[in-house]
Amino acid sequence: SKTAYVRTKPHLNIGTMGHVDHGKTTLTAAITKVLADRGRSAFVPFDRIDRAPEEAARGITINIAHVEYETDTRHYAHVDMPGHADYVKNMVTGAAQLDGAILVVSALDGIMPQTAEHVLLARQVGVDHIVVALNKADAGDEELTDLVELEVRELLTAHGYGGDAAPVVRVSGLRALEGDPRWTASVEALLDAVDTYVPMPERYLDAPFLLPVENVLTITGRGTVVTGAVERGTVRVGDRVEVLGAAVETVVTGLETFGKPMAEAQAGDNVAVLLRGVPRDAVRRGHVVAAPGSVVPAREFRARVYVLSAREGGRSTPVSTGYRPQFYIRTADVVGDIDLGDAGVARPGETVDMTVSLGRAVPVEPGLGFAIREGGRTVGAGTVTEVR
Ligand code: GDP
Ligand code: MG
Repeated sequence: SKTAYVRTKPHLNIGTMGHVDHGKTTLTAAITKVLADRGRSAFVPFDRIDRAPEEAARGITINIAHVEYETDTRHYAHVDMPGHADYVKNMVTGAAQLDGAILVVSALDGIMPQTAEHVLLARQVGVDHIVVALNKADAGDEELTDLVELEVRELLTAHGYGGDAAPVVRVSGLRALEGDPRWTASVEALLDAVDTYVPMPERYLDAPFLLPVENVLTITGRGTVVTGAVERGTVRVGDRVEVLGAAVETVVTGLETFGKPMAEAQAGDNVAVLLRGVPRDAVRRGHVVAAPGSVVPAREFRARVYVLSAREGGRSTPVSTGYRPQFYIRTADVVGDIDLGDAGVARPGETVDMTVSLGRAVPVEPGLGFAIREGGRTVGAGTVTEVR
């Protein structure tokens, strides 16, 4: 029989943020180097992070590097992005849901425009914990670095992060990468701060189970299987679930991940879920499997939307009230009308608030990211702010 899946350490998603050239990619490489020396990671050199493949997240091309490593207590998936636009798109669409962030600030330059913008974005999308890496400490003057630290703590406080309590660690990604023991120790101190300051997102696991359906298949003699990534909560074989979209309630009779049977699947897992007595054609991509009664579909919601510029593959002309594009929400594809209120129009490159009325009800909730598409191309990325 197949070997069961074994979960060893709790998993968190984190990432580096901060102004261009402050050393995000160098620090990411240095973290993997320090942990590789402890047998906890594969070393990922700077060039492999910086030349990360482009990814189509919800139909939007984002340059994003995923690096994986372990500390003594946790398993991390870490993202690093090359450009400011990549951060905006990635964070607004929720392509990488961060449980915590490492804000990289150059001790030589201090706070720069993108430093402040990333802190604001983090707040908007619900990142609750930020650890600060005061980077390039090898080249910085001590007194100046003290001032930069004060300035960063003030910035965090101004955005509701409690800057006095936030860990601020002086590091040198560059020297740590070169193996200088003083600075490899600084990177270890940074990782310790992340381990202790960023809590496990408990609510995420404790929340009622939800899985957006990506694919549906039939296993001869066993029944209908839906596949996808568990968005939140846990599910066990024998649990009752509801399929929103199909309007059926049923029981989970089997769970697998990467071909291995498991008794329980949890948030973040990629799973195949066997559903009792559900005809194959009743379930489709775009449906949502959830704990019964835990989500309510809605047709109208408020959202904050970034309208992509023409350079990013978006429109070259503004959108206005009455515009009726497709909304990609989780795995669903639904037509909807937009209402821009008093503003009436939104130009490419702008971030605006709007009311969306969907052609059919789907489960939505504040914080949920989505993409807006028109004729097969993505023209906007948004986050639900309020359900009507
Ligand atoms: P990113 O744009 O934030 O990803 O920054 P990079 O990692 O590409 O680094 C930008 C520049 O700063 C490069 O020339 C690095 O070599 C340099 N740099 C990065 N970290 C350090 C550091 O700790 N000390 C010094 N002196 N230079 C660094
Ligand atoms: Mg970089």
